[in-house]
Amino acid sequence: MARLVHAFKFGDGDTVRLVFKERLRVWAPCTFCGAAGMIKGRDDATIVCPMCYGRKGKHERHALRWQVSPESLTIGQAEVVARFERPGRFTGEQTGCVTERYMCEQTGIGSGSNHAVENLFPSVAEAQAECDRRNSADKEAKDGNA
Ligand SMILES: [Zn+2]
Repeated sequence: MARLVHAFKFGDGDTVRLVFKERLRVWAPCTFCGAAGMIKGRDDATIVCPMCYGRKGKHERHALRWQVSPESLTIGQAEVVARFERPGRFTGEQTGCVTERYMCEQTGIGSGSNHAVENLFPSVAEAQAECDRRNSADKEAKDGNA
């Protein structure tokens, strides 16, 4: 019977960019107190701003968006898990579902993040193109549900 063969996308020492999904937080200064946190009365007495409670603003959370890692990662270890399926009756070929993951020097080898191959790209341009594609797909899915 023909054995399942796996071709690795990356090798030891390859540099890659990771794409990841993160909720962006943006600081929005309080417009009521001008980001002072305090309000001054006509008698020059001050009170804590009732809009921001003295915090001078707030973090506004934006939608989850795919982003490219600012640093490149160096491949150090690969892990492949193959879930075999019954060979085709006529071909005798071993088929299966293969998941491929990588550990990188910057995020820990042996123990650390195990990145799915689908989220690793050989260049910033390719990683950014994939982020754009996934973000627009997410937007379409969201708009479709609205
Ligand atoms: Zn305020």
